[in-house]
Amino acid sequence: MTTARLSGQVRLRAARARTWRRTAPPRLMGHALAAARRGMAVFPLWPRSKTPSLHGRRDCDGTGVCSAGHLGWEQRATTDPDLIRHWWSESPSSNIGVACGPSRIYVLDLDTAHGEQAPEPWTGARHGRDVLAQLAEQAGQPTPATFTVRTPTGGLHLYFRVPADSPLRNTTGRVGWRIDSRGQGGLVVAPGSLRRNGSYTVAHRGPIEPLPAWVADKVAPPLRPEPEPEPLAPTTPLSDIRRRRYLETVCAGVAHAPPRTAHDALVRAAYTLGRLVAGGEFTDDDARASLHIAAHHRRIPAHEADAAVTDGMTAGSRYPRQLEDRN
Ligand SMILES: [Zn+2]
Repeated sequence: MTTARLSGQVRLRAARARTWRRTAPPRLMGHALAAARRGMAVFPLWPRSKTPSLHGRRDCDGTGVCSAGHLGWEQRATTDPDLIRHWWSESPSSNIGVACGPSRIYVLDLDTAHGEQAPEPWTGARHGRDVLAQLAEQAGQPTPATFTVRTPTGGLHLYFRVPADSPLRNTTGRVGWRIDSRGQGGLVVAPGSLRRNGSYTVAHRGPIEPLPAWVADKVAPPLRPEPEPEPLAPTTPLSDIRRRRYLETVCAGVAHAPPRTAHDALVRAAYTLGRLVAGGEFTDDDARASLHIAAHHRRIPAHEADAAVTDGMTAGSRYPRQLEDRN
């Protein structure tokens, strides 16, 4: 083989590699397109993060896609390959967010122990996966096997299908120890995405199975909260002082809940107050502030308290009620 022919082949190979680089999607764009083909509505996150990079309400200038009102990541998430190619050509190292609501998925987020012992009744569990297995056994059901993604910290995201109008939202610790969930209003980071400590990878490549009914029951907002404190007295509107006292009574339910039930008590209190806020008895701010103080006293982490308060109040707001004076 002559030197001229050899260098010709090298040039050809280099040209092919250039063409390939131009036509093959960059790595993360490829993963975003693959997720969209599975029906996931995706949107960009900041590189190596799980924070949406599309502009938020505060930075909205009311032009372009937002000319008729601001659209957030949940509204803008898409399965459209052209839009995905556009987003990831602008920023090829963006991580991939999946908007759970529009994707009609519900995700169980099973976490590692992070070096902690599981509390009763989960003694012996070393991961949210073990807790889910215990719960499945109690329910007389098989442990769910569905499309699963492993997170960089060893957590597992179990994806499930839900109907388009599923009301199920995010939960924190409601199902069990080291089990959170993402639904309406929630996002998960798609496989292929990178964090400083590793990547999100597919752990189980099977189809996305329907959400089992017994799991749906555990993540559904509480429909029948604990008996509420008796209204103080009807006919005339309550004085502000008595209204204040009522607020304190509801929050005291969180303060005095037995150990390990503080989180549930917080959701119930939020539900009760959510109804009364919807009925015009308290402002949303007052109710939230009181609930957060109660949560703080029970050492419920702020982000968990936030989720519990929002879940409970949102559920309660569907059933407005008012306090009345007796006699
Ligand atoms: Zn906007």
